[in-house]
Amino acid sequence: MVTRRPRYDLLIAGGRLVDPRAGRDGRFDLALAGGRVAAVAPRIDPAEAARVHDAEGLMVVPGLIDLHTHVYHSATALGVAPDPLAARSGVTTLVDAGSAGAGTYAGLRDFVIRPAATRVLAYLNISYPGIFAFDRGMMVGEAADRALLSVAHCVAVAEANRDTIVGIKVRMGAGTSGELGLAALDCALDAAERAGLPLMSHIGRPPPSYAAVVDRLRQGDVLTHCFRPAPNAPVDEAGRVLPALRRARERGVLFDIGHGMGAFGFDSAEQAVAEGFAPDIVSSDVHSLCVDGPAYDLAHTMSKLVACGVPIADVLAMATDAPARALRRPDLGHLGEGAVADVTLIAPVPADFPFRDVTGGERRGRWLLRPAGLYRAGTFVAPAARPFEAGHDRPAGGRSDRDNAMEAP
Ligand SMILES: [Zn+2]
Repeated sequence: MVTRRPRYDLLIAGGRLVDPRAGRDGRFDLALAGGRVAAVAPRIDPAEAARVHDAEGLMVVPGLIDLHTHVYHSATALGVAPDPLAARSGVTTLVDAGSAGAGTYAGLRDFVIRPAATRVLAYLNISYPGIFAFDRGMMVGEAADRALLSVAHCVAVAEANRDTIVGIKVRMGAGTSGELGLAALDCALDAAERAGLPLMSHIGRPPPSYAAVVDRLRQGDVLTHCFRPAPNAPVDEAGRVLPALRRARERGVLFDIGHGMGAFGFDSAEQAVAEGFAPDIVSSDVHSLCVDGPAYDLAHTMSKLVACGVPIADVLAMATDAPARALRRPDLGHLGEGAVADVTLIAPVPADFPFRDVTGGERRGRWLLRPAGLYRAGTFVAPAARPFEAGHDRPAGGRSDRDNAMEAP
């Protein structure tokens, strides 16, 4: 007797598949084999697969990428452990945004990145110690002392770790670059240029001004905290997007949410979106001081953008295709045949949820994007509880989960 081996290891069937790279948004089946995407089609015979995951009522999307997190746990006060965070938020790739500098990167690599089941990449801080003194009631700006900003050390470590370091990070603002101001940004740009990598710049309270920082960024560089509240908001007092931001976008500078503890304001976000200036990328900037609110995680931050009027499919692109491109990792963030089988399942749940920004501002949102598990190179990771979103689901009102998944705006 001959037993035929099924062609596919797994079929994820019946969901609404959204793959922004491929321009797909509709009902498709997804077949996985050997940890890769093997086929995408309106219908694939379940008999061809060893197992079937019924995804009716779910959105099936490329593994989410959180471009701005802090996961150097146990070594920096900011750090949170990557795997529980990733499971809770439906994320398959986390990027640490500058927790480590040249002097501390080996620890991030050996004690966090290598043992993690989640893919972890990193922006290397231009400052030698990385973010070394950020806690409640404690902030010593790592970019305020010129002696710490060694371009040579930064470039050497970036070049020795090309598999995990995806860019250079600098934190610009009164509390972080202090009196050095734009000189800190110039050091970081110099390092990025020499290493041939993109830069991610934080924007905090002035000085320097938002315009002065963004004017220096190059094509492919990322400005994070793009919708922070005033001072240094993306809009002027009349609610108009600053001309410097439009100039930067024309050059190819990328604008990233980076919610965090102090960097997302509903007024800024709504005014910018109303002016046609949606962000390029959505990220959480989750760290120990905002993982229990107001940022929580990437999925929650994405739901907030939906509450600001950004369509769900656009928000999904901002957490998949767009960050993959910013990382120069076109192998990630899509579900084309041959792609690594990183897949996130999301239930769009009708809700009446009081979202909060970093100023205490509140907006009632109509949808929660609830992670319903993920596949990491084809291996299932169960969803974790989200107690901070509990108790706000709207009654179904005759709608099925399938209706919600297919028709969520
Ligand atoms: Zn950060």
